[in-house]
Amino acid sequence: MGCRHCNENPVISRRYSGEILCKSCFFKSFERNAQKELRRQIKELIKNSGIEIKKMGIGLSGGKDSTVALHILKTYIGKRNIEIIGLSVDEGIENYRSKSLQCAADECQRLNIPLKVFSYKELIGMTLGELLVEKPPEASPCSPCGILRRRSLNQMAKKNSVDCLVLGHNLDDFAQTVLMNHARGDISRLTRMAPHKHVQPGFVPRILPLRRLPEQEVYLYSILKEMTIHDGDCPFSFKAQRNTFRDLLLNLEKEQPGTRHSLLNGMEKIRENIPKPEKLTPCPTCGEPSGSPEPCIFCREFASFRA
Ligand code: SF4
Ligand code: ZN
Repeated sequence: MGCRHCNENPVISRRYSGEILCKSCFFKSFERNAQKELRRQIKELIKNSGIEIKKMGIGLSGGKDSTVALHILKTYIGKRNIEIIGLSVDEGIENYRSKSLQCAADECQRLNIPLKVFSYKELIGMTLGELLVEKPPEASPCSPCGILRRRSLNQMAKKNSVDCLVLGHNLDDFAQTVLMNHARGDISRLTRMAPHKHVQPGFVPRILPLRRLPEQEVYLYSILKEMTIHDGDCPFSFKAQRNTFRDLLLNLEKEQPGTRHSLLNGMEKIRENIPKPEKLTPCPTCGEPSGSPEPCIFCREFASFRA
């Protein structure tokens, strides 16, 4: 069966929508989806917060998601008078991150976009590998890594005076996070998830243009567009708690195509009934924004490293 629009040879069959698309119709559909999402999220942020967007940051790892998001953002900016800056986090993961950061640097150079790198070593005086030496071997590194990445990105974004930060999270990432927050009964965190519609004090709002596009499609797009991407997994990824939710969702999606979209749309309905997310307050110890008046999770987990 050919492409449903032009009968050319298909490159993708979308089970969740029943569409079969050729390369050029896939490109059009993918870009329309991402651009619409990006425009809508920026518009909503401006409407609710009154901020002006003069400079946008983009979190870059060199992987497919952030690289595709970078291209989508670059097209969106077009002739608009908005600056873009790439922001990368170097966890210090041996045989992995330096290769992927090289891909991010190459792609930024090709698109003429400046890139800044901030490392865990600068943040806490240690790489992730060095930090793990002190932990029991069975401990998952993803929980401390996530805390450090969130903090690194926010600090970099503030230091570089960006008005919002674009991240490459795809539909699979997004639906997994929604499911994880539901499973923990953490509705407060669910309502505070990106994309952010409001500006919170000390926290740079985040925008997710790819959140309605499945991981497989983002990968296909990056390959068909011949982008320079680092196609490999972090050596610790097998320890991530998220894997359980990934497997669960893949099975659900197979049984009932459209489950990931339903989780996203359901989460939006919950948010529509909560006019504003709970306000972040400055951590009493470090001053960074936190979800509770207690010392933030970084201060609790990394008290001995705090700069
Ligand atoms: Fe960090 Fe875990 Fe991601 Fe590796 S898989 S980069 S350890 S969060
Ligand atoms: Zn703190």
